[in-house]
Amino acid sequence: PGVFALANHHISVAAESSWKHRTSLRVPNLVGGSFVDSQSSEFIDVINPATQEVVSQIPLTTDEEFKSAVSAAKEAFPSWRNTPITTRQRVMLKFQELIRKNMDKLALNVTTEQGKTLKDAQGDVFRGLEVVEHACGMATLQMGEYVSNVSNGIDTYSIREPLGVCAGICPFNFPAMIPLWMFPVAVTCGNTFVLKPSEKDPGASMMLAELAMEAGLPDGVLNIVHGTHDVVNAICDDDDIRAISFVGSNPAGMHIYARASAKGKRVQSNMGAKNHGVVMPDANIDSTINALVAAGFGAAGQRCMALSTVVFVGDSKPWEEKLLERAKTLKVSAGTEPDADLGPVISKQAKERVCRLVQSGVDSGAKLLLDGRNIVVAGYEKGNFVGPTILSDVTPDMECYKEEIFGPVLICMQANSLDEAINIVNKNKYGNGAAIFTTSGVAARKFQTEIEAGQVGINVPIPVPLPFFSFTGSKASFAGDLNFYGKAGVQFYTQIKTVTQQWKDLSGRSGVSLAMPTSQ
Ligand code: NAD
Repeated sequence: PGVFALANHHISVAAESSWKHRTSLRVPNLVGGSFVDSQSSEFIDVINPATQEVVSQIPLTTDEEFKSAVSAAKEAFPSWRNTPITTRQRVMLKFQELIRKNMDKLALNVTTEQGKTLKDAQGDVFRGLEVVEHACGMATLQMGEYVSNVSNGIDTYSIREPLGVCAGICPFNFPAMIPLWMFPVAVTCGNTFVLKPSEKDPGASMMLAELAMEAGLPDGVLNIVHGTHDVVNAICDDDDIRAISFVGSNPAGMHIYARASAKGKRVQSNMGAKNHGVVMPDANIDSTINALVAAGFGAAGQRCMALSTVVFVGDSKPWEEKLLERAKTLKVSAGTEPDADLGPVISKQAKERVCRLVQSGVDSGAKLLLDGRNIVVAGYEKGNFVGPTILSDVTPDMECYKEEIFGPVLICMQANSLDEAINIVNKNKYGNGAAIFTTSGVAARKFQTEIEAGQVGINVPIPVPLPFFSFTGSKASFAGDLNFYGKAGVQFYTQIKTVTQQWKDLSGRSGVSLAMPTSQ
């Protein structure tokens, strides 16, 4: 039995890949097309958050091993960049087919390592799959521009060229989707890639890399190194890495942004959030409550676009009671249980942090309408579970409001008017997303115009844009200027080269002019 067979003993894994056949729990790096065991003496356990079973172990990759991964990517670049774009697209076309075929296995791995329910894990994979589908049209996305005859006999055109070696650093909360935001776009543009999965759930990245190679991605185009701070710092400092995509928390993201841009690299850094849902009294009560419950407690609140704060405009009492009733019906259990609505949070430390922030809310005067901190889940007594929790009468000065909780905790606030609600949202430092629930077009349009968040939902709780748009968090939720995927994603992974050419009959012309050439 291999790693996955050990962790998921009820699943038979036929025709598994080389690295999964090992008897060791240790996850190898991927360097130049080979799965290579790290020689590191330090490993970190990957733990199933519902059971505390050790699923696998990731190495703290040594500096030498990291350098060999970057060298492999650098070596693979010249021939990959010269591979026809149509061929690169076809690799993605095959890759998307393989992801679909392996959807259940990928989702099971996500549930095992991350904890979310199987249905939610399928969504995690599917949202990433859509980026792969989009990359299948890269020839059009990467197309340059051409202006004929900018001056007599002179044309100017621009080409989008790949940068070289790019790197990606991933968070734990979407182990399949976020790696897929990164490397499919980067490599289809002609770059090569070094991926650093989250140390908490590396399995989906490994499975995806294997499928990408099966789809025809040449050796060295995608490499994987495991580890934490040290390997991340090595990525920031390495002279051969041209661009870094980061998704995760603010402290890590701002550190990486500063360190890597000081080295002249491009960085796109998607970070933390505190997303507000503003509820107008004219909203459809039933669908709004459903949306708040789904977006507040889904994935145990561990989504960067989770709706963690509700601002009730006008009289809030009847709404809070309904919210409470609906939240109480949710089933908390291991993600593999078919009737589970939400699974555990990622770690013991994450649970402690969530509980501490809830307590700080209570201590500073918030009302605890629903307390999920002491939940015990039958059959999974060791899991890091937190049940749905609702704090009401929260004010903007409270720590539980200012900090990102990243757990199944909904914070309720009140505002007397839409203006007041917008003001609350805009004063918050984060700007990932904000939603309004209303039947008034006037209110919705005012909200859309005045709200300072990069992604706005109108009667939509989690407005994560599909890949033909980009993920456009703003304010403290993003650093950089070219967002993930969509047009901006292609721009991020390419350098524009602008060519000016002159083809005209020069016979009979002579003389030199030292004046600045103009087209006058
Ligand atoms: P994290 O910052 O702890 O870890 C992210 C990555 O950075 C990991 O690979 C980790 O090894 C590395 N890392 C962590 N601290 C580091 C440091 N000091 N120096 C160098 N590297 C470091 O984040 P997480 O807990 O895995 O993910 C949750 C966070 O990610 C939340 O804040 C969430 O809002 C955010 N997130 C944002 C988006 C978005 O698109 N805006 C999407 C998903 C998650």
